[in-house]
Amino acid sequence: MTLDDYRRCYAEEIEQVASLESPALVEAYARVPREKFLGPPPWEIVSAEMRAMAAAGLIEAKYRTTSEPRHLYHNVVVSLDRAKDINNGQPSALASWINALDLRGGDRVYHLGCGVGYYTAVMAEVVGPGGSVVALDAQPDLAARARENLSGYPQVAVHTGDGAAFDPEPCDAMLINAGVTHPRTLWLDRLRQGGRLVFPLTIATSPTLGQGAMVKVVRESAGFAAKTVSLLAILNGGNLRDPELEAPLRQTLAKAMATGAMFQMKSLRRDTHEPDDSCLWHTPGACLSAKPVI
Ligand SMILES: [Zn+2]
Repeated sequence: MTLDDYRRCYAEEIEQVASLESPALVEAYARVPREKFLGPPPWEIVSAEMRAMAAAGLIEAKYRTTSEPRHLYHNVVVSLDRAKDINNGQPSALASWINALDLRGGDRVYHLGCGVGYYTAVMAEVVGPGGSVVALDAQPDLAARARENLSGYPQVAVHTGDGAAFDPEPCDAMLINAGVTHPRTLWLDRLRQGGRLVFPLTIATSPTLGQGAMVKVVRESAGFAAKTVSLLAILNGGNLRDPELEAPLRQTLAKAMATGAMFQMKSLRRDTHEPDDSCLWHTPGACLSAKPVI
């Protein structure tokens, strides 16, 4: 088998594991060469499950070192910086989040926390040359690597900057690739009619990692529909976290996850209201609610 064959098998595996509905997304996984984004070998790989258990302090993660590109075509996390917990994330998890974006050819996409750009390339393949992807990373070294890795995609622009301040301008889809305490007003404002935002609402469980729920918001004419896509563990989003919201979020989200209430989410409310039982996560600018869009 050639490396292209291994990549094709990997794409089919991800399609099955992540229940992908988009043939274009499966095709993108079959086309984008992951090894080109990760820097020279050797690479350190680990299963997402082991990494999550290690993050929770249950076990010590065992990383495997390899210089064989075909080993990257499994559902594994590849470490980029062990000290900072920076990884090229689990392919099936990212696939399910990208799948939730319902990308179409020609869409304009915002990828916050693009890392070395592998999943940015996957999204660029799906939206095609008529679409565009605005990618951002707070770490200049990662953004520089992404910029170089993505130089073959004229529809991608990579920026370095603070995700809390960066204005992506109007978008059809946004993938926030770092754990946050709340959706930012600017993201909601910049979502076009019918636009989709996918962001991880998380509790910080360590200085670098958090656990929580991946939330999908869709801008409808009457308001913002919202639902929980999946539960997850992900890197904390630095400036994207409001220190004052950490303590109440810890209490509220833990309870909503334990009781399954997070899966009753139906809308994101921006109107001023007193918090009540339908508020799953109530903040001054945005409330995730069990009430449908009115
Ligand atoms: Zn509320």
